[in-house]
Amino acid sequence: MSVSPGNGRTQQQWQNWRVSTSGISTYGDPCRECGFSWGASLDSAVALMSAVPSRVGALLAGATGRERLPVLEWSVGAYVSHIGDNLTIWTERLRGVASGAPPLVGAYDESALARARNYEEIALPAALWSLGRAVVEWGEAVAQSDQSGTVLIHPERGKLTLRAVVLANVHDALHHAWDIERTLRCSATERAARA
Ligand SMILES: [Zn+2]
Repeated sequence: MSVSPGNGRTQQQWQNWRVSTSGISTYGDPCRECGFSWGASLDSAVALMSAVPSRVGALLAGATGRERLPVLEWSVGAYVSHIGDNLTIWTERLRGVASGAPPLVGAYDESALARARNYEEIALPAALWSLGRAVVEWGEAVAQSDQSGTVLIHPERGKLTLRAVVLANVHDALHHAWDIERTLRCSATERAARA
């Protein structure tokens, strides 16, 4: 979708346009891969996140967690750990700002964190437990964050409203759920071909 600022936009529409452009320019709207729509409201995006643990858990029923596509960085189990850790880090950022800390937060290296945490060796049920806890805590932090204006400043993404944070977080989770789904689909196809 082509997005450009036009005359007659309300302040809220302008804000929505600005906060979504980073994800849209990178992934398209809807996302070319997972289909996520960047036009989701804050409430509907939060609802989508609430369903992530059950959706991911259902996808992984019967999986070992070690299934992996050559084109992807991590196994399906490692993606579960990444989704949870990423949410925990954003929860911490929101909590800090809501408690009066300066809005500028630090970036983190997700690949370095994956190596340090040794994602590939975390048992799948343990990773799913962490994900469930992370989503609950993230939802509580979002509910208690200021919905007006900038909530934090990211060194790479700039000023972010709560809606921008929520959309980015939900997209990350759903995009990786899609990675998990396509990995498992290929694994099932390979098993069927060998049978
Ligand atoms: Zn996506």
